[in-house]
Amino acid sequence: MDKKQDTYTNNQTPILIIGGGIAGLTAAVEAAETGYRVILIEKQPYLGGRVAQLNRYFPKMCPPYCGLEINFRRIRTNPRITVYISTTVTNISGEPGNFSVTLLTEPQYINNKCTSCGECVKVCPVERPDEFNQGMTTTRTAYLPHELAYPFRYVIDHQKCKGVSCGLCLDACDYQAINLSATETKKVVKAGTIILTTGWKPYDPMNLQDLGYGKSPDIITGMMMERLGAPNGPTHGQILRLSDNEIPKKIAFIQCAGSRDENNLPYCSGVCCSATLKQAMHYVEQNPEGEATIFYIDLRVTGRNEDFLSKIIDHPRINLIKSKVATVQMSSDKHTINLDYEDILSGLKQKSAFDMVILATGIIPENIDPIKISADDFGFAKSEHLPDGFYSAGCLNKPADVASSIKESTGITLKALRTAGFKP
Ligand SMILES: Cc1cc2nc3c(=O)[nH]c(=O)nc-3n(C[C@H](O)[C@H](O)[C@H](O)COP(=O)(O)OP(=O)(O)OC[C@H]3O[C@@H](n4cnc5c(N)ncnc54)[C@H](O)[C@@H]3O)c2cc1C
Repeated sequence: MDKKQDTYTNNQTPILIIGGGIAGLTAAVEAAETGYRVILIEKQPYLGGRVAQLNRYFPKMCPPYCGLEINFRRIRTNPRITVYISTTVTNISGEPGNFSVTLLTEPQYINNKCTSCGECVKVCPVERPDEFNQGMTTTRTAYLPHELAYPFRYVIDHQKCKGVSCGLCLDACDYQAINLSATETKKVVKAGTIILTTGWKPYDPMNLQDLGYGKSPDIITGMMMERLGAPNGPTHGQILRLSDNEIPKKIAFIQCAGSRDENNLPYCSGVCCSATLKQAMHYVEQNPEGEATIFYIDLRVTGRNEDFLSKIIDHPRINLIKSKVATVQMSSDKHTINLDYEDILSGLKQKSAFDMVILATGIIPENIDPIKISADDFGFAKSEHLPDGFYSAGCLNKPADVASSIKESTGITLKALRTAGFKP
């Protein structure tokens, strides 16, 4: 728990926000800056959600960390906000104005005495997949979630750590910041109203083996491409094909990979077209000889992304082909990826070869078990049908970009404050 909160004396019932992505951060700062106490729950050991993993924002191509940093500063300096990381909610009882919420925090093997010196990592012998880099790299069991993480503190993956039988990190830490016997903690907090902002996760690409996923390390998802392009990603921002670390000369982007497809996700994930335009532009800007081809069913972009689309259409090294890709096959050299597709505008069946393929996989809502909420057939929250005292915002409600998630979260927070009848 954030220490500054221990001394907070106001006995007003707080507003509880579950999910510390951009929607949850927005709700937290909006409510706290209006004068209310806030408890923010995040299951990861860092705040920021999926946005922290993005390379750049469409349509301005700016780094998402600018906006996140502003929110982190507002959270850090606001005594009304208590943050619980590595924490989930296991039970909610009571009624609006007086909910009792049980929080479960994972064992904190590294405590507040951590100075982030990193000595524990140097001696840790066990590796784990790095989910922040979409599994493309590993970290040690003692690790920093990422180099811009907030809070900026090392953590130990208690599920992978060998515990005191190894204990090398205990000797390496000069600050007594490590306790390998720490256990999970439960705590019950009171809340007046609850805002759900648990966001989204990528559709499982293993369902897309017909589009080549799993056949080659060079057939990756849109979120993996975000990490490949990011300066703090696995290749330090240089887009390389993972099979041999060569710079790809030709990249294919396959839109609606599993989306708008009865066998996978029947709906449109809304942001993938803009995300791909952004990634294609980033790639050709980085590689003066690189060529990007986008295979799309429809290009769905809104607002300022329309101007961005015009730039893409005019770009001499970005091709847009209206088509549904039929097959994705590896050639015998194990690097060239062959695509068969029908060019819908000409009606011709075509073949093309690429060095890398990016599948624009869709967005699915994060499950917030054990909290039961009204959801549509795909698991997105039906915000207008939630129980009294509950609100939801961001990608838990529907696939959305950051600007829409922030707008919705601000509106929902005002509603939540008004309905619960808080007095600032
Ligand atoms: C490939 C790709 C690229 C994109 N690029 C852009 C872009 O350039 N510009 C743009 O505007 N949008 C972009 N988006 C969309 C953007 O990612 C979303 O708008 C944004 O992540 C929505 O924020 P959120 O807070 O609703 O959800 P999330 O970012 O998913 O945050 C939810 C948070 O809740 C936490 N959480 C989940 N379950 C629990 C639980 N049970 N208990 C506690 N915490 C929990 C999660 O760990 C996470 O931190 C992109 C999307 C994709 C797929």
